Amino acid sequence: MKFASLGSGSEGNSLLISATSENRSGVVMLDCGFSVKEAERRLARLDVLPAEIAGIVVTHEHGDHIRGVFKFARRYGTPVWLSYGTYQAAEADSRGADIHFCRDDEPFHIAGLTLQPYTVPHDAREPLQYCLSSEGCKLGVLTDVGHKTDRILSALSACDALVLEWNHDSEMLSNSSYPFSLKRRIGGSHGHLSNAVAADILREVDKSRLKLVIAAHLSQQNNRPSLVEDLMAEVLGGKLIDIEIACQYQGFGWKEI
Ligand SMILES: [Zn+2]
Ligand SMILES: [Zn+2]
Repeated sequence: MKFASLGSGSEGNSLLISATSENRSGVVMLDCGFSVKEAERRLARLDVLPAEIAGIVVTHEHGDHIRGVFKFARRYGTPVWLSYGTYQAAEADSRGADIHFCRDDEPFHIAGLTLQPYTVPHDAREPLQYCLSSEGCKLGVLTDVGHKTDRILSALSACDALVLEWNHDSEMLSNSSYPFSLKRRIGGSHGHLSNAVAADILREVDKSRLKLVIAAHLSQQNNRPSLVEDLMAEVLGGKLIDIEIACQYQGFGWKEI
């Protein structure tokens, strides 16, 4: 399988995943936090036609994940998968879209990929994150989560690649000019992952198959790529595991696992 990002961060997120086997029949888009026009522009950069998107899978209703989902779905007739709670939170925007429901721990299939949803603590109605697999290869995705849980560690075990949130450095967040309420939300148990907790997850998860880790959803104000790279390298020690940082503007190009 292969995957790429249209962009990652609080201004918009979207990940593309495609099976590379014979039976593939399109590309799965995980979130579309960009306007349709912007998504089209970014898809072109990755050589993907909008009509090739076989389904849009949504993690939760925050704008940086759902902004373009239903407009894109209506324009191109793309089916959408999301939890019932996310649907309820976004119902008014979803009219006319081809909606399918998914829930924690109930796998489903799109375009030759198996998607395994798992629940996470985040301040949304019914947020889900996903592992995607095809022919024995597994990609684990985790962003928008406030703290580490056993469920997260077991969901992300034995992945070939991880896209993992490293949102903020706790000290930079507490020294930032953000209002106190926003600092409390981001740093809270249902906010976003600090570098230290992301490092704990990476340290504790089963890495027996891991070849690539991509740091995602970095705060542009309260984090620095060099801090994340140093921590990732420290956790991974001398292991032959590639590391990369997803960018808000460029995302990252196709990775094959
Ligand atoms: Zn987000
Ligand atoms: Zn969120």
